[in-house]
Amino acid sequence: MKLTFHGAARTVTGSQHLLEVNGTRILLDCGLYQGKRDESRERNRHLPFDPSQLDAVILSHAHIDHSGNLPNVTRNGFTGDIICTFATRDLCSAMLRDSGHIQEQDVKYVNKKRSAKGQPPIEPLYTEEDAVKALKYFLSVGYDRPYHVASGVTVTFFDAGHMLGSAIVQLDIEDEASGQARRLVFSGDLGRRKTPILRDPTILDSADLLILESTYGGRKHDPLETAEGGLHDVIDRTYKRGGKVIIPAFAVGRTQTIVYELNRLYHAGMLPDIPVYVDSPLAVNATDIFRLHPDAFDAEAVDYLTRQDPDGDIFGFRRLRYIRQVEQSKELNDLQEPCIIISASGMMEAGRILHHLSHTIEDRRNTILIVGWQAPDTLGKQLIDKREVIRIFGEEYRPQAEVAVLNGFSGHADHGELLEWVSAFRKHPEKIFLVHGEVEAAEALSVSLKEQLRYQKVYIPELHQPFSV
Ligand SMILES: [Zn+2]
Ligand SMILES: [Zn+2]
Repeated sequence: MKLTFHGAARTVTGSQHLLEVNGTRILLDCGLYQGKRDESRERNRHLPFDPSQLDAVILSHAHIDHSGNLPNVTRNGFTGDIICTFATRDLCSAMLRDSGHIQEQDVKYVNKKRSAKGQPPIEPLYTEEDAVKALKYFLSVGYDRPYHVASGVTVTFFDAGHMLGSAIVQLDIEDEASGQARRLVFSGDLGRRKTPILRDPTILDSADLLILESTYGGRKHDPLETAEGGLHDVIDRTYKRGGKVIIPAFAVGRTQTIVYELNRLYHAGMLPDIPVYVDSPLAVNATDIFRLHPDAFDAEAVDYLTRQDPDGDIFGFRRLRYIRQVEQSKELNDLQEPCIIISASGMMEAGRILHHLSHTIEDRRNTILIVGWQAPDTLGKQLIDKREVIRIFGEEYRPQAEVAVLNGFSGHADHGELLEWVSAFRKHPEKIFLVHGEVEAAEALSVSLKEQLRYQKVYIPELHQPFSV
């Protein structure tokens, strides 16, 4: 049995791990690598395996760094099943199309520059149409339901509590070569307890091999309660100043969490009577998909939905409007009175949020409320770092608005929460492979696994590194 780490190795994005056993090849996740433009294009385009030789893909969840290279794989000869939960399949339907559209737009921009230099045009990694074609290979399986994948391999999904439909992947394998039964657990991305809408990550207590994410190794999040209280306080003080609250948020996941929190504040009479806008076509589509999957909600959200919410819609209340059309989005710029605008992208690198920022950032009455992680060099990080001058669409702006940060809404377990999850295994897995983290994060986690939990075989694989297991 062989495991090869083809992505999210010593970095966060591009999750792809290849399992070879009993003459079959199973790919765990098929994510996009998201780094510098040219490097990403090369890495994503050149697959390190022949897609036509893959038997199946097992998908932990719909985030693009886990699913985003699927249309490239199906376009290049893969004809097997892409196995995931129901919500993951439906979210992929919206997210892969959106990703295809972004690939096309991106190549248009690059080709303009190339043609000015007399260079030949390049093709997009895949198109929106390729993304649609990829959908026919999806096969959905519910949580906790063992499913036969290939000769001697059974998969079971357990709720990972990270995003709607997210799964911890458990593979029970009868290895014909060694005659041994082995259990491989892949954490996928692991969420936090008490995250709104989502169930807590499932505690598993047995594995022979463990592939574990390490995004927040060495770091600690604020408790969720701080974020919930903070949300109310920020809105309240901005309203009293007569300002607007601009919330940059990822369209899938974070936006719905914030909307649910606002919904609860509204019905508790704790939200000022001001309009709330969700301005992102992908967020609108994703919210519709969330509504289709109450089976993936936690008990609290189900109770709220079925017994408490007067509208019977945890993603809707009287002052909330979803905006799809560009014209309506532009009209928001003319609003004079206080309001709340939630828009993407979450790191303020592209999308409609940039227009909202350009109209609000220089007014000290307003607040830019950051509710997600900001990568180095992004506009979001520059705002956190209180840069005196920032650039939006090539124009200079001097930020005057308040910049508030709430990191308690994180979708990932932090260092302590990862360790706590691992300590539930009754017998130590023989080997732990740390993925989905920058080197420092993975190393910090490795040190604690060895020193606190007394693990000996903890590996931080290099890109494309194979292991016999
Ligand atoms: Zn994720
Ligand atoms: Zn991820």
